[in-house]
Amino acid sequence: MKKILSCLVLLFLLSDIASGFSEIALNDVERPDGAILFIVDGLGSSYYFPEFTPYALDGSELLKARTENLTSGSRILDTRTPHPVTGIAHSVIVTGFSDANEEMVSYPDATIYDITRHNGFVNLAVMETGDFPGMREEQDIIMFAENNSIDEPKISIQATKAPSGIYELMYEWRMKLPSYLDRKSGVKRYSAYNKWSIDAANAVAISMINDHPSQKFLLTVNIGAIDSGGHNLGVDNYISLIESLDSDFYPLYRTASENNIALFFTADHGMSFAAKNAKRGGHISDKYSSRQESLRIPFVVFSPNANPGVIEGVFGQEDIAPTLLSILDLPNNLQYADSKPVNLKNYASIFIRSHNEYDVSLWNNGKKIAEHSGAELGFTGLQLNMSYTLKAKGKEGVYEEHLFLDSDKQFVLSKPESGIINRKTLAIILILIVVASGLIIIKRIKD
Ligand SMILES: [Zn+2]
Repeated sequence: MKKILSCLVLLFLLSDIASGFSEIALNDVERPDGAILFIVDGLGSSYYFPEFTPYALDGSELLKARTENLTSGSRILDTRTPHPVTGIAHSVIVTGFSDANEEMVSYPDATIYDITRHNGFVNLAVMETGDFPGMREEQDIIMFAENNSIDEPKISIQATKAPSGIYELMYEWRMKLPSYLDRKSGVKRYSAYNKWSIDAANAVAISMINDHPSQKFLLTVNIGAIDSGGHNLGVDNYISLIESLDSDFYPLYRTASENNIALFFTADHGMSFAAKNAKRGGHISDKYSSRQESLRIPFVVFSPNANPGVIEGVFGQEDIAPTLLSILDLPNNLQYADSKPVNLKNYASIFIRSHNEYDVSLWNNGKKIAEHSGAELGFTGLQLNMSYTLKAKGKEGVYEEHLFLDSDKQFVLSKPESGIINRKTLAIILILIVVASGLIIIKRIKD
Protein backbone atom coordinates (compact mmCIF):
# COMPACT_ATOMS: atom_id res chain seq x y z
CA MET A 1 0.00 0.00 0.00
CA LYS A 2 2.71 2.42 1.08
CA LYS A 3 4.71 1.63 -2.08
CA ILE A 4 1.76 2.31 -4.39
CA LEU A 5 1.12 5.55 -2.55
CA SER A 6 4.70 6.77 -2.85
CA CYS A 7 4.76 5.81 -6.55
CA LEU A 8 1.62 7.86 -7.11
CA VAL A 9 3.05 10.79 -5.15
CA LEU A 10 6.18 10.64 -7.31
CA LEU A 11 4.10 10.47 -10.50
CA PHE A 12 2.09 13.45 -9.28
CA LEU A 13 5.21 15.48 -8.61
CA LEU A 14 6.84 14.56 -11.92
CA SER A 15 3.74 15.27 -14.01
CA ASP A 16 4.62 18.95 -14.33
CA ILE A 17 8.31 18.60 -15.09
CA ALA A 18 9.13 18.91 -18.77
CA SER A 19 12.13 17.25 -20.39
CA GLY A 20 15.36 19.05 -21.39
CA PHE A 21 15.57 22.37 -23.18
CA SER A 22 16.85 22.49 -26.79
CA GLU A 23 18.06 25.69 -28.33
CA ILE A 24 18.01 26.48 -32.04
CA ALA A 25 20.16 29.53 -32.83
CA LEU A 26 19.23 31.19 -36.13
CA ASN A 27 22.00 33.76 -36.17
CA ASP A 28 25.21 34.35 -34.27
CA VAL A 29 24.25 36.13 -31.10
CA GLU A 30 26.53 37.82 -28.59
CA ARG A 31 24.88 36.24 -25.63
CA PRO A 32 26.50 36.60 -22.18
CA ASP A 33 27.97 33.48 -20.55
CA GLY A 34 26.58 34.36 -17.15
CA ALA A 35 25.24 37.22 -15.09
CA ILE A 36 25.85 39.34 -12.03
CA LEU A 37 22.79 40.82 -10.30
CA PHE A 38 24.09 43.73 -8.25
CA ILE A 39 21.60 45.14 -5.72
CA VAL A 40 22.44 48.27 -3.74
CA ASP A 41 20.33 48.52 -0.62
CA GLY A 42 18.64 51.91 -0.41
CA LEU A 43 20.05 53.60 -3.53
CA GLY A 44 17.54 56.01 -5.03
CA SER A 45 18.18 56.88 -8.69
CA SER A 46 16.96 60.43 -7.88
CA TYR A 47 20.34 61.06 -6.24
CA TYR A 48 22.53 60.45 -9.27
CA PHE A 49 20.63 59.98 -12.57
CA PRO A 50 21.39 63.12 -14.64
CA GLU A 51 17.68 63.60 -15.47
CA PHE A 52 16.48 63.74 -11.85
CA THR A 53 16.64 66.25 -8.99
CA PRO A 54 16.14 64.98 -5.45
CA TYR A 55 13.99 66.95 -3.02
CA ALA A 56 13.55 66.76 0.74
CA LEU A 57 10.12 66.50 2.38
CA ASP A 58 10.18 70.23 3.08
CA GLY A 59 10.63 70.95 -0.64
CA SER A 60 14.31 71.92 -0.55
CA GLU A 61 16.61 70.64 -3.29
CA LEU A 62 19.16 68.06 -2.18
CA LEU A 63 22.74 67.37 -3.27
CA LYS A 64 23.46 64.88 -6.05
CA ALA A 65 26.29 62.38 -6.37
CA ARG A 66 28.82 62.76 -9.19
CA THR A 67 29.16 59.37 -10.86
CA GLU A 68 30.96 58.16 -13.98
CA ASN A 69 30.53 54.39 -14.04
CA LEU A 70 26.99 53.91 -12.83
CA THR A 71 25.18 55.66 -15.68
CA SER A 72 26.57 53.98 -18.83
CA GLY A 73 25.13 50.79 -20.38
CA SER A 74 21.42 50.35 -21.10
CA ARG A 75 19.82 52.62 -18.55
CA ILE A 76 16.12 52.32 -17.83
CA LEU A 77 15.29 55.84 -16.74
CA ASP A 78 12.27 55.43 -14.49
CA THR A 79 11.99 52.14 -12.58
CA ARG A 80 9.92 52.07 -9.40
CA THR A 81 9.58 49.61 -6.58
CA PRO A 82 5.98 48.76 -5.64
CA HIS A 83 7.01 48.29 -1.98
CA PRO A 84 10.01 50.25 -0.62
CA VAL A 85 10.81 47.61 2.02
CA THR A 86 14.04 45.58 1.86
CA GLY A 87 12.81 41.95 2.09
CA ILE A 88 9.71 42.49 -0.04
CA ALA A 89 11.56 44.48 -2.71
CA HIS A 90 14.24 41.78 -2.99
CA SER A 91 11.42 39.23 -3.40
CA VAL A 92 9.91 41.37 -6.20
CA ILE A 93 13.32 41.53 -7.95
CA VAL A 94 13.80 37.74 -8.01
CA THR A 95 10.19 36.63 -8.69
CA GLY A 96 9.07 39.25 -11.22
CA PHE A 97 5.84 39.59 -9.21
CA SER A 98 4.83 43.05 -7.98
CA ASP A 99 3.10 41.71 -4.87
CA ALA A 100 5.70 39.15 -3.86
CA ASN A 101 6.79 38.42 -0.31
CA GLU A 102 9.68 36.53 1.24
CA GLU A 103 7.69 33.31 1.59
CA MET A 104 6.94 33.16 -2.13
CA VAL A 105 10.67 33.04 -2.95
CA SER A 106 10.71 29.43 -1.65
CA TYR A 107 7.86 28.24 -3.89
CA PRO A 108 8.80 25.95 -6.82
CA ASP A 109 9.64 27.79 -10.06
CA ALA A 110 8.96 31.17 -8.43
CA THR A 111 12.36 32.79 -8.97
CA ILE A 112 15.03 33.50 -11.55
CA TYR A 113 17.22 31.06 -9.58
CA ASP A 114 14.84 28.15 -10.28
CA ILE A 115 15.10 28.90 -14.00
CA THR A 116 18.86 29.40 -14.09
CA ARG A 117 19.35 26.15 -12.15
CA HIS A 118 17.00 24.26 -14.49
CA ASN A 119 19.15 25.50 -17.38
CA GLY A 120 22.49 24.39 -15.97
CA PHE A 121 23.60 27.54 -14.14
CA VAL A 122 25.05 27.60 -10.67
CA ASN A 123 23.63 30.25 -8.29
CA LEU A 124 26.17 32.09 -6.13
CA ALA A 125 25.65 35.04 -3.79
CA VAL A 126 27.45 37.55 -1.61
CA MET A 127 24.83 39.49 0.34
CA GLU A 128 25.08 41.97 3.20
CA THR A 129 21.32 42.60 3.33
CA GLY A 130 18.25 41.41 1.45
CA ASP A 131 18.86 37.74 2.21
CA PHE A 132 16.42 35.70 4.27
CA PRO A 133 16.07 31.91 4.66
CA GLY A 134 14.12 31.48 1.38
CA MET A 135 16.60 33.63 -0.58
CA ARG A 136 19.58 31.76 0.88
CA GLU A 137 18.05 28.39 -0.03
CA GLU A 138 17.84 29.47 -3.68
CA GLN A 139 21.66 29.69 -3.80
CA ASP A 140 24.14 26.86 -4.31
CA ILE A 141 26.46 28.87 -2.10
CA ILE A 142 26.03 32.20 -0.34
CA MET A 143 28.22 34.33 1.91
CA PHE A 144 25.97 36.61 3.96
CA ALA A 145 25.91 38.94 6.94
CA GLU A 146 23.94 37.39 9.79
CA ASN A 147 23.30 40.76 11.38
CA ASN A 148 23.12 44.20 9.84
CA SER A 149 25.85 45.63 12.05
CA ILE A 150 28.72 47.53 10.49
CA ASP A 151 30.25 47.95 13.96
CA GLU A 152 30.36 44.23 14.66
CA PRO A 153 29.52 42.31 11.50
CA LYS A 154 28.98 38.56 11.64
CA ILE A 155 29.54 36.83 8.31
CA SER A 156 28.42 33.25 7.52
CA ILE A 157 28.60 30.91 4.55
CA GLN A 158 25.84 28.48 3.59
CA ALA A 159 26.42 25.96 0.81
CA THR A 160 24.62 23.06 -0.80
CA LYS A 161 26.37 22.38 -4.13
CA ALA A 162 29.23 24.84 -4.37
CA PRO A 163 31.62 24.60 -7.34
CA SER A 164 35.02 23.36 -6.14
CA GLY A 165 37.15 26.01 -4.47
CA ILE A 166 34.36 28.58 -3.98
CA TYR A 167 33.69 27.72 -0.34
CA GLU A 168 37.40 28.08 0.48
CA LEU A 169 37.55 31.37 -1.44
CA MET A 170 34.53 32.77 0.40
CA TYR A 171 36.02 31.65 3.69
CA GLU A 172 39.23 33.50 2.82
CA TRP A 173 37.18 36.65 2.09
CA ARG A 174 35.18 36.25 5.28
CA MET A 175 38.50 36.44 7.15
CA LYS A 176 39.53 39.58 5.24
CA LEU A 177 36.66 41.76 6.46
CA PRO A 178 38.37 42.94 9.69
CA SER A 179 41.31 44.28 7.66
CA TYR A 180 38.91 46.36 5.52
CA LEU A 181 37.28 47.91 8.60
CA ASP A 182 40.43 48.24 10.73
CA ARG A 183 40.63 51.62 12.54
CA LYS A 184 37.91 53.11 10.33
CA SER A 185 34.81 54.83 11.65
CA GLY A 186 31.83 56.78 10.31
CA VAL A 187 31.38 57.10 6.57
CA LYS A 188 34.82 55.56 5.81
CA ARG A 189 33.83 52.40 7.67
CA TYR A 190 30.48 52.20 5.85
CA SER A 191 32.24 52.60 2.51
CA ALA A 192 34.82 49.93 3.39
CA TYR A 193 32.03 47.53 4.34
CA ASN A 194 30.52 47.97 0.84
CA LYS A 195 33.92 47.66 -0.85
CA TRP A 196 34.60 44.37 0.92
CA SER A 197 31.38 42.87 -0.50
CA ILE A 198 32.18 44.12 -4.02
CA ASP A 199 35.79 42.84 -3.90
CA ALA A 200 34.66 39.46 -2.52
CA ALA A 201 32.06 39.14 -5.28
CA ASN A 202 34.66 40.12 -7.88
CA ALA A 203 37.01 37.40 -6.57
CA VAL A 204 34.19 34.84 -6.82
CA ALA A 205 33.42 35.91 -10.41
CA ILE A 206 37.10 35.74 -11.42
CA SER A 207 37.47 32.30 -9.85
CA MET A 208 34.41 31.01 -11.72
CA ILE A 209 35.70 32.46 -15.01
CA ASN A 210 39.22 31.02 -14.58
CA ASP A 211 38.60 27.73 -12.77
CA HIS A 212 35.17 26.76 -14.13
CA PRO A 213 35.14 28.32 -17.62
CA SER A 214 32.33 26.14 -18.97
CA GLN A 215 30.09 26.55 -15.91
CA LYS A 216 27.48 29.29 -16.35
CA PHE A 217 26.68 31.23 -13.22
CA LEU A 218 24.34 33.82 -11.75
CA LEU A 219 26.07 35.78 -9.02
CA THR A 220 23.85 37.93 -6.78
CA VAL A 221 25.57 40.70 -4.87
CA ASN A 222 24.09 43.03 -2.27
CA ILE A 223 25.76 45.92 -0.51
CA GLY A 224 24.14 47.18 2.66
CA ALA A 225 25.91 50.33 3.80
CA ILE A 226 24.34 52.95 1.51
CA ASP A 227 21.00 52.18 3.13
CA SER A 228 22.54 52.21 6.62
CA GLY A 229 24.36 55.44 5.75
CA GLY A 230 21.09 57.08 4.66
CA HIS A 231 19.37 55.99 7.86
CA ASN A 232 22.19 56.80 10.31
CA LEU A 233 24.63 59.31 8.82
CA GLY A 234 22.44 61.85 7.04
CA VAL A 235 22.10 63.14 3.50
CA ASP A 236 25.68 64.41 2.91
CA ASN A 237 27.26 61.12 3.87
CA TYR A 238 24.62 59.24 1.85
CA ILE A 239 25.77 61.17 -1.24
CA SER A 240 29.47 60.57 -0.56
CA LEU A 241 28.78 56.82 -0.14
CA ILE A 242 27.20 56.77 -3.63
CA GLU A 243 30.33 58.48 -5.02
CA SER A 244 32.57 55.88 -3.34
CA LEU A 245 30.43 53.11 -4.83
CA ASP A 246 30.96 54.60 -8.29
CA SER A 247 34.72 54.00 -8.07
CA ASP A 248 34.62 50.79 -5.97
CA PHE A 249 32.19 49.22 -8.46
CA TYR A 250 34.58 49.62 -11.41
CA PRO A 251 36.68 46.41 -10.94
CA LEU A 252 33.54 44.26 -10.92
CA TYR A 253 32.21 46.09 -13.96
CA ARG A 254 35.54 45.41 -15.73
CA THR A 255 35.51 41.71 -14.84
CA ALA A 256 32.00 41.43 -16.29
CA SER A 257 32.64 43.39 -19.48
CA GLU A 258 35.98 41.69 -20.27
CA ASN A 259 34.59 38.20 -19.77
CA ASN A 260 31.22 38.32 -21.51
CA ILE A 261 29.20 38.41 -18.30
CA ALA A 262 26.00 40.49 -18.15
CA LEU A 263 25.79 42.92 -15.25
CA PHE A 264 22.46 44.10 -13.85
CA PHE A 265 22.74 47.08 -11.52
CA THR A 266 19.73 47.94 -9.35
CA ALA A 267 18.43 48.67 -5.85
CA ASP A 268 15.64 47.43 -3.62
CA HIS A 269 14.32 50.94 -2.84
CA GLY A 270 15.53 54.51 -2.47
CA MET A 271 15.76 56.92 0.47
CA SER A 272 14.05 60.14 1.57
CA PHE A 273 15.13 62.95 3.87
CA ALA A 274 13.02 65.47 5.79
CA ALA A 275 15.23 68.51 5.14
CA LYS A 276 18.49 69.65 3.53
CA ASN A 277 20.65 68.92 6.56
CA ALA A 278 18.69 65.91 7.81
CA LYS A 279 20.81 63.63 9.96
CA ARG A 280 18.52 60.64 9.37
CA GLY A 281 16.68 59.35 6.34
CA GLY A 282 13.98 56.73 5.82
CA HIS A 283 11.84 54.91 3.24
CA ILE A 284 9.28 52.75 5.06
CA SER A 285 7.29 55.03 7.37
CA ASP A 286 4.23 56.84 5.97
CA LYS A 287 5.92 60.21 5.50
CA TYR A 288 8.69 58.68 3.36
CA SER A 289 7.17 55.65 1.60
CA SER A 290 5.24 57.43 -1.15
CA ARG A 291 8.08 59.80 -2.13
CA GLN A 292 9.71 59.49 -5.57
CA GLU A 293 13.07 59.52 -3.75
CA SER A 294 12.04 56.30 -1.92
CA LEU A 295 10.43 54.59 -4.93
CA ARG A 296 12.70 55.33 -7.89
CA ILE A 297 15.52 52.81 -8.23
CA PRO A 298 18.33 52.49 -10.76
CA PHE A 299 18.06 49.72 -13.34
CA VAL A 300 21.09 49.60 -15.60
CA VAL A 301 22.13 46.66 -17.79
CA PHE A 302 25.62 46.04 -19.19
CA SER A 303 25.51 43.16 -21.68
CA PRO A 304 26.98 42.45 -25.12
CA ASN A 305 23.51 41.68 -26.55
CA ALA A 306 21.82 44.79 -25.09
CA ASN A 307 21.57 48.10 -26.92
CA PRO A 308 23.21 50.83 -24.83
CA GLY A 309 21.36 54.08 -24.21
CA VAL A 310 18.53 55.52 -22.15
CA ILE A 311 15.14 53.79 -22.19
CA GLU A 312 12.29 56.16 -21.40
CA GLY A 313 8.92 55.25 -19.89
CA VAL A 314 7.89 54.01 -16.47
CA PHE A 315 8.82 50.45 -15.50
CA GLY A 316 8.32 48.40 -12.37
CA GLN A 317 10.88 46.61 -10.23
CA GLU A 318 9.06 43.39 -11.18
CA ASP A 319 10.28 43.87 -14.79
CA ILE A 320 13.86 43.18 -13.72
CA ALA A 321 13.45 39.37 -13.48
CA PRO A 322 11.99 38.84 -16.99
CA THR A 323 14.57 41.27 -18.44
CA LEU A 324 17.41 39.30 -16.85
CA LEU A 325 16.02 36.03 -18.27
CA SER A 326 15.55 37.62 -21.72
CA ILE A 327 19.16 38.86 -21.79
CA LEU A 328 20.36 35.35 -20.85
CA ASP A 329 18.03 33.82 -23.49
CA LEU A 330 16.30 31.74 -20.87
CA PRO A 331 12.58 30.96 -21.02
CA ASN A 332 10.47 33.10 -18.69
CA ASN A 333 8.79 30.32 -16.72
CA LEU A 334 8.40 32.42 -13.57
CA GLN A 335 5.23 31.02 -11.98
CA TYR A 336 3.88 34.17 -10.33
CA ALA A 337 5.29 36.96 -12.50
CA ASP A 338 2.98 39.82 -13.56
CA SER A 339 5.71 41.60 -15.51
CA LYS A 340 7.37 41.71 -18.88
CA PRO A 341 10.93 42.23 -20.08
CA VAL A 342 12.20 45.67 -21.02
CA ASN A 343 13.19 45.43 -24.69
CA LEU A 344 16.95 45.82 -24.57
CA LYS A 345 18.12 42.89 -26.66
CA ASN A 346 19.20 43.43 -30.24
CA TYR A 347 17.36 40.27 -31.37
CA ALA A 348 14.42 38.23 -30.09
CA SER A 349 13.79 34.65 -29.06
CA ILE A 350 10.73 32.40 -29.14
CA PHE A 351 10.32 29.84 -26.34
CA ILE A 352 7.98 26.87 -26.59
CA ARG A 353 6.95 24.61 -23.74
CA SER A 354 4.62 21.64 -23.68
CA HIS A 355 4.02 18.40 -21.80
CA ASN A 356 4.55 16.27 -24.91
CA GLU A 357 6.95 16.48 -27.81
CA TYR A 358 5.95 18.64 -30.77
CA ASP A 359 7.42 18.97 -34.27
CA VAL A 360 7.84 22.72 -34.49
CA SER A 361 8.70 24.80 -37.52
CA LEU A 362 9.20 28.52 -37.89
CA TRP A 363 8.33 30.39 -41.08
CA ASN A 364 9.13 33.84 -42.39
CA ASN A 365 7.76 35.24 -45.68
CA GLY A 366 6.43 31.80 -46.68
CA LYS A 367 9.86 30.18 -46.16
CA LYS A 368 10.68 27.64 -43.48
CA ILE A 369 13.65 29.03 -41.52
CA ALA A 370 13.92 26.44 -38.72
CA GLU A 371 12.52 23.12 -37.60
CA HIS A 372 12.99 21.06 -34.44
CA SER A 373 11.23 18.51 -32.22
CA GLY A 374 10.97 18.66 -28.46
CA ALA A 375 8.93 19.60 -25.42
CA GLU A 376 11.03 22.63 -24.46
CA LEU A 377 12.44 24.62 -27.38
CA GLY A 378 14.02 28.02 -27.83
CA PHE A 379 14.51 29.68 -31.23
CA THR A 380 17.05 32.44 -30.61
CA GLY A 381 18.77 35.13 -32.67
CA LEU A 382 15.61 36.11 -34.57
CA GLN A 383 15.44 39.45 -36.30
CA LEU A 384 13.25 41.91 -34.41
CA ASN A 385 10.15 43.63 -35.80
CA MET A 386 9.38 40.92 -38.36
CA SER A 387 6.37 38.68 -38.92
CA TYR A 388 6.75 34.94 -38.32
CA THR A 389 4.49 31.90 -38.41
CA LEU A 390 4.92 29.17 -35.85
CA LYS A 391 3.60 25.71 -36.75
CA ALA A 392 3.54 22.78 -34.34
CA LYS A 393 2.29 19.20 -34.68
CA GLY A 394 2.05 16.78 -31.78
CA LYS A 395 -0.10 14.22 -29.97
CA GLU A 396 -2.38 16.89 -28.60
CA GLY A 397 -3.08 18.41 -32.00
CA VAL A 398 -1.93 20.94 -34.55
CA TYR A 399 -1.09 24.51 -33.71
CA GLU A 400 -0.46 27.56 -35.85
CA GLU A 401 0.30 31.08 -34.71
CA HIS A 402 1.07 34.23 -36.70
CA LEU A 403 3.07 36.71 -34.74
CA PHE A 404 4.87 40.00 -35.00
CA LEU A 405 8.12 39.71 -33.09
CA ASP A 406 8.72 42.95 -31.16
CA SER A 407 10.21 41.16 -28.13
CA ASP A 408 10.76 37.64 -26.75
CA LYS A 409 7.67 35.44 -26.95
CA GLN A 410 6.55 32.43 -24.90
CA PHE A 411 4.15 29.70 -26.00
CA VAL A 412 2.71 26.89 -23.92
CA LEU A 413 1.38 24.32 -26.39
CA SER A 414 -0.32 21.87 -24.04
CA LYS A 415 -3.84 22.88 -23.14
CA PRO A 416 -3.32 24.26 -19.63
CA GLU A 417 -6.77 23.07 -18.40
CA SER A 418 -6.01 19.45 -19.23
CA GLY A 419 -2.79 19.67 -17.24
CA ILE A 420 -4.63 21.10 -14.26
CA ILE A 421 -7.41 18.50 -14.52
CA ASN A 422 -4.84 15.70 -14.66
CA ARG A 423 -3.10 16.99 -11.56
CA LYS A 424 -6.42 17.60 -9.81
CA THR A 425 -7.66 14.11 -10.72
CA LEU A 426 -4.44 12.63 -9.43
CA ALA A 427 -4.75 14.64 -6.22
CA ILE A 428 -8.33 13.40 -5.71
CA ILE A 429 -7.24 9.80 -6.34
CA LEU A 430 -4.43 10.23 -3.79
CA ILE A 431 -6.79 11.65 -1.17
CA LEU A 432 -9.27 8.80 -1.78
CA ILE A 433 -6.48 6.22 -1.41
CA VAL A 434 -5.36 7.80 1.87
CA VAL A 435 -8.96 7.87 3.18
CA ALA A 436 -9.61 4.26 2.01
CA SER A 437 -6.42 2.95 3.60
CA GLY A 438 -7.31 4.79 6.81
CA LEU A 439 -10.72 3.09 6.83
CA ILE A 440 -9.10 -0.32 6.24
CA ILE A 441 -6.71 0.25 9.17
CA ILE A 442 -9.59 1.39 11.44
CA LYS A 443 -11.61 -1.69 10.40
CA ARG A 444 -8.60 -3.98 11.20
CA ILE A 445 -8.10 -2.39 14.61
CA LYS A 446 -11.84 -2.82 15.34
CA ASP A 447 -11.71 -6.45 14.19
ZN1 LIG B 1 16.62 48.06 1.84
